Amino acid sequence: MRLTVSDFHCDALSKLQLNPKLNFASSRKLDVNLRRMKQGGVRLQCFAIYLSEKLGTSRYGYVQEQIDLFYHHIVRLGVRPIGFVEDLEELEQSQGIGGLLSIEGADGLEGNLDHVRESYERGVRILGLTWNYANWAADGILEPRNGGLTPAGRNLVKLCHELGIILDVSHLSVRGFWELQELAAAAGRPFIASHSNAFSVCDHVRNLRDDQIEALISLGGRIGLTFVPWFVKKGRNPSSEDLLPHIEHVCALGGADHIMFGSDFDGIESHLRHLRHAGDYAKFQEMLLKHYPEGLVRGWLSGHAAAFLCDWLPLRKKAL
Ligand SMILES: [Zn+2]
Repeated sequence: MRLTVSDFHCDALSKLQLNPKLNFASSRKLDVNLRRMKQGGVRLQCFAIYLSEKLGTSRYGYVQEQIDLFYHHIVRLGVRPIGFVEDLEELEQSQGIGGLLSIEGADGLEGNLDHVRESYERGVRILGLTWNYANWAADGILEPRNGGLTPAGRNLVKLCHELGIILDVSHLSVRGFWELQELAAAAGRPFIASHSNAFSVCDHVRNLRDDQIEALISLGGRIGLTFVPWFVKKGRNPSSEDLLPHIEHVCALGGADHIMFGSDFDGIESHLRHLRHAGDYAKFQEMLLKHYPEGLVRGWLSGHAAAFLCDWLPLRKKAL
């Protein structure tokens, strides 16, 4: 048996930007490439637009360049861009592979809401306000002052809600999280954490506290448990089984139907044992099925992600 997989975060586009000679079809330097996606049963992958610190500055031109790379390197190979609910339905019927564009950190949008609208037009459907540090929209989780959203950041959140861009709280400061949560609750729009684990299980600052996970659940959001080794377990050489306590913990908080996965493949230099690239989702699935019934595993691997996107991606019909 092979269940399908949806993964809500990888940094393959950032690697392609730094080295455009990499071949998305099969380069072994890419944790996520087409061959590995097929091997692991990954049917839907979110490709984050993350501007590497190696680029020096966060310019909008770099965001546009990664969108171009998505179409030229990934869509060209037959990966279907997913921007609307109808695309998901077609993907389901075609048995194809889909790709979704997200932006990790609003830095490159340069505070210009026209850039946000243009990015949406070109397919971006998920936005994390920050990476680890402060930008024009909000503070990231590593800013010691723990600032929240700026006035411009609040306008950005409102625009995303209007356009139908899903907001992502991974990397956001704690204060920013709660300010965003308030705006999201008022708008009746859930948000996601695309790649974060449970702080109660592994006390890394990038993981979410119980009250944050509960707030995300109560709005109907999703938490993409992530494979970054040091967000999974402190100590040496953690393995994919060390994710189980995170799953258990989110379930105990009432979130069994809100779990998905966001690997952070291509954004990490070291990996969990038995979970080193997209192809290893096949082994990961077997491991999960040893511990949990198929219905639960199916939901975590793809069902909850798909249901969320069906509810919150825009409809193409309506857009016309
Ligand atoms: Zn990240």
